[in-house]
Parts: sequence; C-alpha cells; structure tokens
Amino acid sequence: MEIISNIPRPQHALPQGTDNSVPYAGPWREMRDGSLMRLVYCPGEWKKLPVETLPICSGCGTPFRKTDERLGDMAWFEADCLRRHIQDSQAPVKPSIPISV
Ligand SMILES: [Zn+2]
Repeated sequence: MEIISNIPRPQHALPQGTDNSVPYAGPWREMRDGSLMRLVYCPGEWKKLPVETLPICSGCGTPFRKTDERLGDMAWFEADCLRRHIQDSQAPVKPSIPISV
C-alpha cells in the first residue's frame, strides 16, 4: 500500500542529490497487521492561471502537469514523472489535462 503525499520534506530528510521537486518513495515499512506500507512523495504546486512557466522536476526536467484541482484562478500542478523515479510504484496515474492557453 502506498500513501501519496504532497507535503515537502525538510531538506535534511531528503535523499541525497534531490530536492522537493523530485518524486521519491520512502522505505517499505511493515505494519502491525503484516501489510507493507510506504510513503510516496509527489511534488505539486499551486499556480495562478494562465501559467507562464511550468514548474519542472529538477531530477529529470519533466514539466509538472495540470490537474483538475482548482482554487479560484489557481490550479494544482503536480510532477508527471513519478514512475520515472519510482519504477515499482503502484500509485494510480491521474489523467493528464491539456493546458489551455
Ligand atoms: Zn522527474
């Protein structure tokens, strides 16, 4: 089981050579009932629409994608390269939404 988190971690808690724009997975932990669980961090950012510059992953340069989460004239953008960094992730891939300019 994977818990998807958008909450950035403090710099000292990050794996070396990464920052909070790169998706990563924490170690698997065994729960009391014997099931395995880990935290998967998927970076995201609120951006005012229309966007001028997309946030990008500093690990692989992939631009974040727009999701359908909105807050007024802001939209939630999140990293689109989860699987590139976490090959064995079981996290569901949300459908990408084309950016209207
Ligand atoms: Zn990336």
